[in-house]
Amino acid sequence: MNTSTHPSPFLPAARTLLVTGASRGIGAAVTRLAAKRGWDVLVNYTRDAAAAEAVAIDVRADGQRALVVQADVGDEAQVMALYAQLDAAVASGRLAPLVGLVNNAGVVDLPERVDEMSGTRLERMFRINVFGSFWCAREALKRMSTRHGHAGGSIVNLSSAASRLGSPGQYVDYAASKGAIDVFTLGLAREVAAEGVRVNAVRPGIIETDIHASGGIPDRAQQMAPLVPMQRAGTAQEVAAAIVWLLSEEASYTTGSVLDVTGGR
Ligand code: NAP
Repeated sequence: MNTSTHPSPFLPAARTLLVTGASRGIGAAVTRLAAKRGWDVLVNYTRDAAAAEAVAIDVRADGQRALVVQADVGDEAQVMALYAQLDAAVASGRLAPLVGLVNNAGVVDLPERVDEMSGTRLERMFRINVFGSFWCAREALKRMSTRHGHAGGSIVNLSSAASRLGSPGQYVDYAASKGAIDVFTLGLAREVAAEGVRVNAVRPGIIETDIHASGGIPDRAQQMAPLVPMQRAGTAQEVAAAIVWLLSEEASYTTGSVLDVTGGR
C-alpha cells in the first residue's frame, strides 16, 4: 500500500472532502494537505474565483479530483445549491462520495464595542459563522450518517481561541459566534457518535492569514506575537495539519474534542 497517498486504511480509498472558504488562508492549506492524503476536494469560495481555481489546480496536480463551487455559506439557499452540485458530481462519477466536511468559512468585522454594534453586523456574523456551519453539517450528515444509509464520515469545525478569551473591545460578536461553535461541536458529536460520524473542532490562536486585514488590522498577527507563549504567530499549514489529522482514521476514537492550536495561548 502507498501509505504516503492513503495513510488512513479504514477510510474509503475514494472519498471527497468539502472545505468551505477554501480559496485562501486555513481553508486553502487544508485543501492542499488533504489532497496529498488522498482526498478529492470540493473547493468552496465566495468572491475570489481565481484563487479557488489555483487551489483546485494544486489538488489535481496531486492526482486528486477537485470541484470549485461558489456559495455564501451564510445563505441557506446557496448551501443547498452547493450540495446539489456535489450530488450531481458524485452521481456522474466526477467526485467520490462525501466523507469529510471542514466548516472553515468564517468572518471577523472591524473592532467595535458591543454598545456600538448594529443588528446588521450581528446578523451577518452569526449567519456566516454559526448558521452556515449548521446548514453545511446538516446536509453533510444526510450524506454520511448510517442513519441515512451511508458509511460514516468526519466533520471538523473552525472555532477560535476567542471563544475562551471573549475578545473585549475588539469583536465580542465573533468570540460569541465561536463559543456557539464549541457547543455545536460537543452536542452534534454526541448526537451522531453512534452513526459513524465524528465531529471535532480546532481552535486556532493567532494565525498569519488575510483575516486580520478584513478586521482592519493587517499586521495583527505580528502585533500579537509577543503575547503568545511560543512568541510567534502560527501558520495556516500548522492549523491544517491538526484538521487533517482529525479527519483521518488516526483520530478514529476522537469525537467531541476541541483542539487548541495556539502556541500555548
Ligand atoms: P481568511 O484568510 O479570511 O479566509 C476566509 C475564507 O473564507 C476565504 O476563502 C473566503 O473566500 C471564505 N469565505 C468568507 N466568507 C464566506 C462565506 N460567507 N461563504 C463561503 N466562504 C466564505 O480566513 P482564515 O484566517 O483562513 O480563517 C479560517 C477560519 O479559521 C475562520 O473560521 C476563522 O474564524 C478561523 N480562525 C482564524 C484565525 C486566524 O488567526 N487566522 C484564528 C482563529 C480562528 P473569498 O475570499 O473567496 O470570499
